[in-house]
Amino acid sequence: MLSKARELDAADPLAEYRERFDLPEGVIYLDGNSLGALPKATPARLEQVMRGEWGDGLIRSWNDADWITLPQRVGGKIAPLIGAQPHEVIVADSVSVNLFKLISAALKMRSDGSGGGRKVILSEPGNFPTDLYMIQGLEGQGLATQRLAERDVMTDALGEDVALLLLTHVHYKSGAMFDMAALTKAAHDVGALVLWDLSHTGGALPVDLNACGADFAVGCGYKYLNGGPGAPAYAFVAERHHDALEQPLSGWMGHAAPFDFSDDYAPAPGVDRLLCGTPSILAMSALEVGVELIAKVGVSRLWAKSRALSEFFRECLADAGVDLPLVSPDDPMQRGSQLSFRHPEAYALCQALIARGIIGDFRAPDILRLGFAPAYLRFEDMARTAEELADILATEAWDTPEFKQRAAVT
Ligand SMILES: *Cc1c(COP(=O)(O)O)cnc(C)c1O
Repeated sequence: MLSKARELDAADPLAEYRERFDLPEGVIYLDGNSLGALPKATPARLEQVMRGEWGDGLIRSWNDADWITLPQRVGGKIAPLIGAQPHEVIVADSVSVNLFKLISAALKMRSDGSGGGRKVILSEPGNFPTDLYMIQGLEGQGLATQRLAERDVMTDALGEDVALLLLTHVHYKSGAMFDMAALTKAAHDVGALVLWDLSHTGGALPVDLNACGADFAVGCGYKYLNGGPGAPAYAFVAERHHDALEQPLSGWMGHAAPFDFSDDYAPAPGVDRLLCGTPSILAMSALEVGVELIAKVGVSRLWAKSRALSEFFRECLADAGVDLPLVSPDDPMQRGSQLSFRHPEAYALCQALIARGIIGDFRAPDILRLGFAPAYLRFEDMARTAEELADILATEAWDTPEFKQRAAVT
């Protein structure tokens, strides 16, 4: 399989982009879906922001280096990756905080006016925890009612009492993808709004929020957008909702005229009102480099390569006699940029792989999750990973106390 892999690498139109990332020697990185790799251009850009803009420019850089418009500028660069217009996307805070803002805004839109007191937020059991926790926080405030439905009965659970359908487009654990167009339409048919979590979508595969008629979306900056650990997140609000949007974190940066220092809050026009406090300029500058690089490679090409990588990996596994049960959809068109396998000792298996320089990750209780970030992965990496995994399973190399010892972050 290694020679076939090398042929595929030689013919790969994205091969040149591997050079743009700073990857450690000898490491195969299959966890770009948790923390994207470091673009080589990022340290130089941060050095410039720190020494030039901060060190020399000091406070003047809010204007001279355009720090003040960085949230809109980076949002505008993310927009084409997710089928949004530039003025519909802004970078701010974390996904969790943006979920809070947008769930609250949706509840407000549906609790008065045309909505008539709707409080139900519909989601699925096993959604990414923070999505559910943010609903539950609002429930604790008496503002929302959580309803969970399995995906095969999701549309049946869409009643006239639903204010918002909140789903993660590509599931973090299984990689299974929702039909965004169909579910958005089904929600709209009962008068509900829709909020898509694009954390495992943005920068990995193309999605067209506006063609699907989506109302809101949020997404992560540190996964497939390579923004760095804890990179700020982004939020999308369809233009038609800009005037009606009210969110409770009414901080001064979301004010129409923050530097008037007026006593009374007046929201900025459009998505700008999603801003709350002062943006982290260093973090956002790093994110901008990642977004620019991913935009240059192009999400359609990334997804095509991702499918080719994952299908080739499965071929390599079959060739090596590995038959771990696949939790992800069998059809590459139905899944995001990952493959998840079930094994009762998935944690130890993952640690044994890491000890051999292959970094994937574990998701409780029994999932080995391998993410394919196609901008920097090679087909050769697939062949080597399959080979090592086969060896670890055959020799039970995972079965040591050392590999079963859980760290704080798993
Ligand atoms: C990674 C991820 C998040 C991250 O949320 P933060 O608040 O930015 O830590 C949220 N939702 C999903 C689906 C994710 O995969």
